Amino acid sequence: AHNAQSSNLPHANIGTIGHVDHGKTTLTAAITKVLQKDGLAKYVSYDAIDKAPEEKARGITINIAHVEYSTKNRHYAHTDCPGHADFIKNMISGTSQMDGAIVVVAATDGQMPQTREHLLLAKQVGVKHLIVFINKADIADSEMTELVEIEMRELISDFGFDGIATPVICGSALLALKGDESRMGVPSIRRLLAAIDEYVPTPQRDVTSPFWMAIDSAFTVPGRGTVVTGTIKKGTLKKGDETELLGHNSAIKTVVTDVQVFRKSVPFAEAGENVGLLLRSIKLDRVQRGMVLVAANSATIGNRYQAQLYLLTRGEGGRSRPVISGYIQQIFSATWNLAVRVDMPSDKDMLMPGDHSVVNLTLLKRMAVEPGQTFTIRENNYNVATGIITKKLS
Ligand code: GDP
Ligand code: MG
Repeated sequence: AHNAQSSNLPHANIGTIGHVDHGKTTLTAAITKVLQKDGLAKYVSYDAIDKAPEEKARGITINIAHVEYSTKNRHYAHTDCPGHADFIKNMISGTSQMDGAIVVVAATDGQMPQTREHLLLAKQVGVKHLIVFINKADIADSEMTELVEIEMRELISDFGFDGIATPVICGSALLALKGDESRMGVPSIRRLLAAIDEYVPTPQRDVTSPFWMAIDSAFTVPGRGTVVTGTIKKGTLKKGDETELLGHNSAIKTVVTDVQVFRKSVPFAEAGENVGLLLRSIKLDRVQRGMVLVAANSATIGNRYQAQLYLLTRGEGGRSRPVISGYIQQIFSATWNLAVRVDMPSDKDMLMPGDHSVVNLTLLKRMAVEPGQTFTIRENNYNVATGIITKKLS
């Protein structure tokens, strides 16, 4: 019987991306069909996936199907969205982040505009690993699929992925769904799953990057000094480490003189842990909500960032009128909010509700923000836009 949920296997989040009609939903259904035979999934039909219920995440409406299955090695949560707009909103809002993405491309068409748009977003939101599935091999000859493979390896390299190491699997989701055991049918799904198992690493806590912690609270311990608390997002920290408090126009160097976990002093703490940190010579009034504590010289503050922005529609509670370049509102991200100015790229000067675009953000104060950090923009306490930081500009 299907017991994916109760298994102790490592877990990864994946999903299908690619141009409309290239076979993403058929492939998702086929994967569950093939794995059901092995007792590793419950078959989810094409219709059940495509009529995915609406989900509301940060005010936006996304049609999204979450499918679950296991291989012998790993448990997966797999997302597939019915419409192109849903894929965009899912990625920009960070609603279900993927550790790896299956790029579905029909051998009959090759790469298409939405293939490129999804790849660009996948890169910007931090998807590190792709698997290419060249679909519809049942109605394409081998010359066509070979050409598409060459073209796809070039394309993903152009977007900054590893075009050489990325596995490319050729098959037919439709044949597999029908239970066809010929090479392009069921076995192609097994080749795909083996490639995902092997090529997409299980997400780990990041203990190798420089130390980074968003500050949740700060208080004074009489006789000792200022303590800041938070969850370590990246890296490790030990007593005596040189750090920097960043945000609200300030960059203040300080040494961590005590590291506490559950109110006990520890020599060392790492990503994922909740800590209290005693800071040398820092007055409490210098620590503000929204600051981060990082390893000294590992990050800088800035007030200009590039982002991908999605403007909510009226039906999603957003604006009914467009936003024009120079739009000023409040931005909310992590634990801070500030005034922000939104400028459009040179080729457009307005954004309609339901549109998404690259934008430049200018924050009222310089903050420490990392690519991949999500945010919302609110007008009179209503979400009007959601976005993700893609680059620090200055
Ligand atoms: P999506 O929009 O990417 O989710 O694509 P769908 O899964 O809805 O598939 C679009 C159309 O392509 C449907 O009519 C499918 O039956 C068809 N299709 C999907 N996979 C294959 C395949 O391997 N071979 C053929 N011939 N048709 C396929
Ligand atoms: Mg679909």
